[in-house]
Amino acid sequence: MSKHVTHWINGQEWSGTAARHGDIYNPATGQVTGTVDFATSAVMDQAVASSKAAFAEWRQASLARRAQVLFAFRELLNAKKEELAAIITAEHGKVLSDALGEVTRGLEVVEFACGIPHLLKGGYSESVSTGVDVYSIRQPLGVVGIISPFNFPAMVPMWFFPLAIASGNVVIVKPSEKDPSATDFVAKLWKEAGLPDGVFNVVHGDKEAVDALLTHPDVKSISFVGSTPIAKYVYETGTAHGKRVQALGGAKNHMVVLPDADLDLAADAAINAGFGSAGERCMAISALVAVEPVADALIAKIKERMAKLTTGDGTKGADMGPLVSSIHRDKVASYVAAGEEEGATLVVDGRTTKFEGDAAGFWLGPTLFDNVTSKMSIYTDEIFGPVLSVIRVKTYAEALKLVNDHLYGNGTAIFTNDGGAARRYQNEVEVGMVGINVPIPVPMAYYSFGGWKASLFGDTHAHGMEGVHFFTRGKVVTSRWLDPSHGGINLGFPQNV
Ligand code: NAD
Repeated sequence: MSKHVTHWINGQEWSGTAARHGDIYNPATGQVTGTVDFATSAVMDQAVASSKAAFAEWRQASLARRAQVLFAFRELLNAKKEELAAIITAEHGKVLSDALGEVTRGLEVVEFACGIPHLLKGGYSESVSTGVDVYSIRQPLGVVGIISPFNFPAMVPMWFFPLAIASGNVVIVKPSEKDPSATDFVAKLWKEAGLPDGVFNVVHGDKEAVDALLTHPDVKSISFVGSTPIAKYVYETGTAHGKRVQALGGAKNHMVVLPDADLDLAADAAINAGFGSAGERCMAISALVAVEPVADALIAKIKERMAKLTTGDGTKGADMGPLVSSIHRDKVASYVAAGEEEGATLVVDGRTTKFEGDAAGFWLGPTLFDNVTSKMSIYTDEIFGPVLSVIRVKTYAEALKLVNDHLYGNGTAIFTNDGGAARRYQNEVEVGMVGINVPIPVPMAYYSFGGWKASLFGDTHAHGMEGVHFFTRGKVVTSRWLDPSHGGINLGFPQNV
């Protein structure tokens, strides 16, 4: 039976009739499994009005009450994580264990947000002047918008909404139209957890819905995650409309392997980080920088491991699932063709990989290129698929220059047994998240996630204390309770005595 996904506004499914829809696919079968309603600006207005009404009560809810709802949500999400993972796999295609992994990483942010009473503690200075005290508080912004990409339909929205809600804001999520069901599932869990109606609204759609959110005068902030051109557009449009914006963009993540590295560890890491989730991760490793003389030995080990990888239906135990859509699969395959034409050595061709699944699925096996140069499109562009490019360099300095010269600066990893070299890399590299013998350095919830350069527009990263700051405004109060010794009229600028 075909499913129908619609907006979730004020604690219930929207009852209108949408003029436009999108198709939802199962990437493992290539079949349309349902439709998702696309919102107009009038629907967004309804959602914002519902959010605004809910804000009046929710911002006044005690920290204890907010934390209780967060804890209840955490318990429900934890109990139903397998169900949510199955929903993700059915629309995204990633294998079940990977889908469960993303839910677990999202749960960590919920758990962090459960500590909101502690996280929102302000400062207090007694007697800054005679009889005068100063203290700082942080208050919620109001209606906050979250726009998410297809590749982590559960985890990416969860980088933002637990802290936004815990801080007293009301949230409108605009999920990716490619896999919209995960956010609707989550909306129902919030209701069950006791969150008042209107605090968590979901509006589906495409550019029209995004633009309505970006330009709405009552929306105070935008947290966006997606490709770099759209992130830049969202940042520029949102800030031009007076909003606070954090817009996380695309990536090209380099893994540098120094000559002294443990090559088996490095080969395992390259496989996991290059081909996990079919390379559709913003923290995937797509450029492997081999500092000679390691390249030949490392490539041999990677090739050996690739021969054992299975590509197939994510519900049936394959290592790697399909790509999200036929258009995206064809685009990634066109990069493989471009790499060959540009003169890279095609070591393993994913276009010829045998897959275990429906012939109509969006399949493409893992590809490995050697002798890639910094001028080739497979190196300069974000491919967002299972394509790993090896670039051979002679020195650490050459490797560092490659990474620092690249447009993107999301994540990077260095593999070495030399602590001094690793420390130097962590200091010199111009990238937001660095792994040392760790290929996918996604920070824990209590640190902040975000890249540099074209991988992030705005100055605040996701979750951790930066997340708390993003979703709150600071206020400083200077107070004096009158005592008999007040000083009378003085027109001079306040000084501390
Ligand atoms: P995308 O940019 O196509 O879409 C992201 C969101 O923007 C979706 O909700 C989509 O509906 C909306 N959108 C699409 N086109 C739009 C337009 N013209 N105007 C306004 N809104 C529009 O990205 P995607 O394909 O869903 O996701 C993959 C991209 O996301 C990759 O580039 C990946 O690197 C990036 N990503 C980055 C991070 C990070 O933390 N930096 C994390 C995950 C994904």
